[in-house]
Amino acid sequence: MTNVLNPAARDGAPSEPVTTVDELRRRATGPVLTADDDGYAEATLAWNRAAQHRPLVVVEAADANDVVLAVRFAAATGVGLGVQATGHGMALPADDGVLLLTRRLDDVRVDPAARTAWVGAGSQWGPVLEQAQVHGLAPLLGSAPHVGAVGYVLGGGFGWLARRYGSGADSARAFELVTPDGRLLRASADENFELFRALRGGGGGSLGVVTGMEIELYPVTTVYGGNLLYPAEMAETVMDRYARWVADAPDELTSEVVLMNFPPIPDLPEPIRGKSFTIVRGCWCGDLEEGRALLDRFRAELPPVADMWHEMPFSEVATISNDPVHPLPALLTGGWLDGIDGGVGRTLAGLTFPVDGPPLLMFSEVRHIGGAVSRGDRATTVLGNRDHEFVWHALGVPMADGMAEGISARLGEIREALADHDTGRAYLNFLDGEERRARTGDALDGDDVAALRRLKQELDPDDVVRFGVAH
Ligand SMILES: Cc1cc2nc3c(=O)[nH]c(=O)nc-3n(C[C@H](O)[C@H](O)[C@H](O)COP(=O)(O)OP(=O)(O)OC[C@H]3O[C@@H](n4cnc5c(N)ncnc54)[C@H](O)[C@@H]3O)c2cc1C
Repeated sequence: MTNVLNPAARDGAPSEPVTTVDELRRRATGPVLTADDDGYAEATLAWNRAAQHRPLVVVEAADANDVVLAVRFAAATGVGLGVQATGHGMALPADDGVLLLTRRLDDVRVDPAARTAWVGAGSQWGPVLEQAQVHGLAPLLGSAPHVGAVGYVLGGGFGWLARRYGSGADSARAFELVTPDGRLLRASADENFELFRALRGGGGGSLGVVTGMEIELYPVTTVYGGNLLYPAEMAETVMDRYARWVADAPDELTSEVVLMNFPPIPDLPEPIRGKSFTIVRGCWCGDLEEGRALLDRFRAELPPVADMWHEMPFSEVATISNDPVHPLPALLTGGWLDGIDGGVGRTLAGLTFPVDGPPLLMFSEVRHIGGAVSRGDRATTVLGNRDHEFVWHALGVPMADGMAEGISARLGEIREALADHDTGRAYLNFLDGEERRARTGDALDGDDVAALRRLKQELDPDDVVRFGVAH
């Protein structure tokens, strides 16, 4: 499926530079906002309220031509450009630069015969899931349908079908992209291959602005998923048993252990509100009887205090994690482990669960990857660290003044305490802010660090697209 490109942009026009905000405003179809305009304050918010953009100008692109104009303005004035779909994964705020919002580029078109979807750069996963499910198909979305599809894929993308079908990056068939010198081009296995490969897992906001992508869809309609809840103090036992359980689990199971401090908020049911649990969470996408039997083996050895695993249409997959939908401030860190055992559970429990007073972190977790992700095609993607099987991350929500320092310190303590198992390798989607930039290289394998640096140099010697990952 090909997207209809704006012919003017594809031809390279408008070729003359755009040097003033007035000119940008006159030529763009979507809103162009500066600090004096109504709407600027809202437009500069990110979903993750821990940071906010303070750009010189916001361009809310209505089409690919607006993206070209914004990039050319950023290049001609030297102020640089940052891209945002939802702000779930900001690296740097686009301070004093151009903030290009893609949220209006939200077209989604499913081709059931080809089992593909065209996904505009501003679309969240929700509409893709909804439209694909009508045809019994599923995209490789993550735990939260309100995350931006393109941003997720650029950073890798590990969702509930990862071990069976691979990462989001593996599912990308083509990208349309405005290069830092303002050209609109297509990158696929057949065109601009090096760029195509770099976008499949190399991170966003550096090599250009993706205007849309074509992804593969997979035949998934009904899954078996949910949560087994255990008392917080069983974290070591649960992690130990989990490590042995997943060691030979079929690829149809993608799962994790979450050490969760449920917030004391009224919309949570009373039995979990404000309480801490160790949770075995996951999704089975194969034969349902087989999935139930696999879970039964875990239940038999370790009976949970609550069991929420059930059969569900894949359209309801978001209920497995029940991630917060409303914007909040979040600080996080994470990485790849070389293996897990009960000790990892003990370490995480000691630093996640509250001792006296309210907890600093909302959760820490270990997600089982491997499977189709480890078999993914390294020749056509740059997503690194496929040989490691477990990715961890921890997150805190600084709701009150002064909490951020405590949370940051605690995240550092977790990293240190996991040193025996942490490989020092990074997974971009589970890093934000400066850390996403500082550790971009840790998310790539071997020669790809240098290859992407060369590509960045070639495409963007003046670092026009500069607030995302750092190549
Ligand atoms: C509640 C929640 C649940 C999550 N669940 C998962 C999960 O299950 N699995 C997983 O892998 N990740 C998960 N993530 C992480 C998420 O995938 C990353 O934060 C991702 O980067 C978010 O993409 P976005 O477009 O929504 O965010 P944004 O902050 O808008 O973008 C993220 C980065 O991509 C760049 N970018 C966005 N659009 C473009 C574009 N069109 N062209 C070029 N660059 C672009 C931005 O510049 C930025 O650097 C989750 C995050 C949250 C907050």
